[in-house]
Amino acid sequence: MAGERSAGKGRVEGKVAIVTGAAKGIGAASARLLAREGAKLVLSDLDRTGGDAVVSDILAAGGDAIFVSHDVTDEAQWEQLVAVARERFGGLDVLVNNAGISPSGKPIEDLGLDEWRRTLAVDLDSVFLGCKYAIRAMKTGGGSIINISSIMGLVGSSNMADYNAAKGGVRLLTKAAALEVAALGYPIRVNSVHPGYIDTPMVRTAIDRGIEANGAGSQNEAITLLTMLHPIGRLGVADEIGNAVLFLASDESSFMTGSELVVDGGYTAR
Ligand code: NDP
Repeated sequence: MAGERSAGKGRVEGKVAIVTGAAKGIGAASARLLAREGAKLVLSDLDRTGGDAVVSDILAAGGDAIFVSHDVTDEAQWEQLVAVARERFGGLDVLVNNAGISPSGKPIEDLGLDEWRRTLAVDLDSVFLGCKYAIRAMKTGGGSIINISSIMGLVGSSNMADYNAAKGGVRLLTKAAALEVAALGYPIRVNSVHPGYIDTPMVRTAIDRGIEANGAGSQNEAITLLTMLHPIGRLGVADEIGNAVLFLASDESSFMTGSELVVDGGYTAR
């Protein structure tokens, strides 16, 4: 089982990690893998039911985790979240800025300013706030900040201007933060991860929204079309991004900072 704790020293043994959007999908997979490899987890999300279920799984597998209700767009809640990690586990070594929402799915000419701002708030402002409070918490003891961007932070796509802008922003915010903390002499690494399409609740919900808007199509047809965009011949699964997160969280990636780790089944290779 992916989340089960193995005997001996784990790859992130004793590190304290916050994972946002950890109630499902990529965040839940990342949290389970980090816990399996010895990290103590603070899981945050809007979805308490899902978050509590992931915490229960981690505890049952012999790991250590708590859940905190948290809206990643709220600055005061970020300060509280990092304080919880310090109070409960004694510090912060890893932040996974994962929580996000899918694109509006609208062309620019029809996209409302409120919709644009909502995507930018959840998918980009959140990463800025996470970096801000994690840097403050890590600047003496060091750490690793992992920002989940997307292939849509590397290449453009129709009807995704809000998401492209947010995820492209995450890519360069990551590089700016990496350079800044290095120049300040803080022992913090900051990297981004760029997943291709991963079969998670976000993708399934976005497909359903598209079917409803077009009044045609099915989940299977949409998955087939998306699969064709990935030379490897399938969509990804959440653990495949969780493994990239685990690598960046661990000291195995100690010479990586300001980099973009692409995990996309070849989507952006052509
Ligand atoms: P999911 O929707 O499956 O999970 C995301 C979680 O984040 C949900 O539990 C959601 O809660 C939570 N969330 C949403 N808004 C907030 C908020 N304001 N504050 C706190 N939590 C929030 O998404 P994925 O696992 O698919 O995606 C995770 C990340 O990976 C996102 O940043 C996404 O953009 C990125 N990504 C995903 C890809 C994919 O194909 N799945 C591809 C490339 C990047 P609720 O459900 O209650 O809204």
